[in-house]
Amino acid sequence: MSKGNIGVTSDNIFPVIKKFLYSDHEIFLRELISNAVDATSKLKTLSSVGEVKGDLGDLRVRVNINKEKKTLTVSDHGIGMTAEEVDKYINQIAFSGAEEFLNQYKDKAEAIIGHFGLGFYSAFMVSKKVEIFSQSYKEDAKAVHWSCEGSPEYVMEDTIKAERGTDIVLHIDDEFTQYLEDATIEGLLKKYCKFLPIEIAFGKKKEWKDGKEVELDEENIINDVNPAWTRKPTDLTEEDYTKFYHELYPMQFDEPLFHIHLNVDYPFNLTGILYFPKIKSNLDVHRNKIQLYCNQVYVTDEVENIVPEYLTLLHGVIDSPDIPLNVSRSYLQSDNNVKKISGYITKKVADKLAELYKADKDEFAKKWDDIKMFIQFGMLTDEKFYEKAVSFALVKNLDGKYATLDEYKTQVKDAQTDKDGNLVLLYTNDPDAHYTYIERAKAKGYDVLLMDGELDVHCMSQAEQKAEEGKLRFVRIDSDTIENLIKKEDTAKDDYTDEQKEGLRKAFEALLPSDADKLKYYVTCEPAATDALPVFLTQNEFMRRMKEMSAHQQGMNFYGNLPDSYNLVVNTSHPLIQELVNKETSEEVQEEVEKDGKKETVVKTVYTLNAEDERLKQLIDIALLASGLLKGEALAKFVNRSVELL
Ligand code: ADP
Repeated sequence: MSKGNIGVTSDNIFPVIKKFLYSDHEIFLRELISNAVDATSKLKTLSSVGEVKGDLGDLRVRVNINKEKKTLTVSDHGIGMTAEEVDKYINQIAFSGAEEFLNQYKDKAEAIIGHFGLGFYSAFMVSKKVEIFSQSYKEDAKAVHWSCEGSPEYVMEDTIKAERGTDIVLHIDDEFTQYLEDATIEGLLKKYCKFLPIEIAFGKKKEWKDGKEVELDEENIINDVNPAWTRKPTDLTEEDYTKFYHELYPMQFDEPLFHIHLNVDYPFNLTGILYFPKIKSNLDVHRNKIQLYCNQVYVTDEVENIVPEYLTLLHGVIDSPDIPLNVSRSYLQSDNNVKKISGYITKKVADKLAELYKADKDEFAKKWDDIKMFIQFGMLTDEKFYEKAVSFALVKNLDGKYATLDEYKTQVKDAQTDKDGNLVLLYTNDPDAHYTYIERAKAKGYDVLLMDGELDVHCMSQAEQKAEEGKLRFVRIDSDTIENLIKKEDTAKDDYTDEQKEGLRKAFEALLPSDADKLKYYVTCEPAATDALPVFLTQNEFMRRMKEMSAHQQGMNFYGNLPDSYNLVVNTSHPLIQELVNKETSEEVQEEVEKDGKKETVVKTVYTLNAEDERLKQLIDIALLASGLLKGEALAKFVNRSVELL
């Protein structure tokens, strides 16, 4: 038997492990099982090159709990360790980085596990004593027993161990008795070990029989040793991909829309499968996240710094031994490998989407509504992705027809280019509410897009900015009269005098509902079509869009806090309005004006319309009603007035 101090010059690493690593202490199990799996994989490699002869026998890694002894044991039949190796790898190497670790990372120690070879020692986060029993595969090697009670002092001695491999026995601390519960351990194994390449057994399989859970003879295997992403795409069917999706997310019942199999080995190693999920609501978005693995060991599902942000909406796995897993987030962001990986994934996703679009445009269009969130998010946040995505990002019109923006522009160019040569694209976000506006546009032979997605407004602004200055404009169908939205040479004129219009304007203004904080109305008088409504509302595109966009963006509160504003357009071409104007009374008034610094009195004609005319109120209410703004008491009054007028 020998005693010694493990190779650490600082006083004592153990309190540090316990204290600083506290927040993430469950990862001890991942570390120990990874070591067991590594040792087993190494043995398989040695066997395959002929350095280990004969049958390797049972290679399962087993996890056992002994409640009485309060121990948790991880056993493998891997290469094992000789006494010299325990001395070298556990006593010395394990703490080679300890001092640096202590000095540099006092406050973020959990980021360092593994990086400095603390893997095995993470067992001390939850144990008061840890023992190793190991029998090396090497001929003539004696079995070794190592034991340490959470101080730099260890004990090492020869022992007898019948089978090749290593048992790591943790004497669980009283504070951490949850790690002696089957359910806790099974949960952790499912989390970290679900796809490890060597079978992990924990207890026996259970089955429900006659309303009781009974134990079967068979061992309970936690993992799938050949997860889909480690296999060749050519060996996998669509069903395999779907099956694997449900293995990854057992609680997700929807089928994914499609997948992308990632596989690179230069200049970094990365495999994985990404799925485009069906998103039903925003709540769903972050329920299932992309999982990050390192050689099939689960690391995290916080992939924000590795995958571009818009792709974090996808599901699936990424496995890379090249991502420095155990370092801090800020380090990850500056890591070159990580940047390359992120770029690669973007390219791969864009290429796959382009390929799907090319292969079957109709099929792609069917999926568009479900995937447009990802694609638009990507286009808005990643220039490289944008460049590729313009070739498959679609717009949909009210007839449910899809086209890329370029295709669509070509389709409507002839009809919807205004007199200044600018292309105007009309859209609605609510076909029911905008029914009358849409009808007017259609009557003119224009097409209307449906833009009811959360990011549509942002994407429209982006497309406008990318187009030549002013050449492309998106306008919501209710943002002005259709004649003004797409101005043609032959704009109608009315023969009202400015004074008459002013009289008209004032009369309507006097009757508008006032709720200045939330709603603001401006009255304009202009000629629209004779068969358009006599009075209707429009809403300025720019102001409305700014308000909508501010809902998603910080720092745009200025627009967000403005009241909703509408224009009440009095259609001077309409016979009813003409009739009203004919009833205007005019009077001559004297007014003082300043001319060349001198005051002068001029005579002006002022027109007044009888604001008490019930028909004025009725016209305003019709306009409000057509825009869905007439509610409550006002609506009831309108209904009564209508009956009276009849
Ligand atoms: P790392 O795994 O990062 O090298 P660890 O502290 O977890 O760091 O392990 C140190 C070394 O101890 C391993 O590299 C390995 O050589 C040896 N080791 C640990 N566990 C086992 C095991 N179950 N079987 C064989 N060797 C092991």
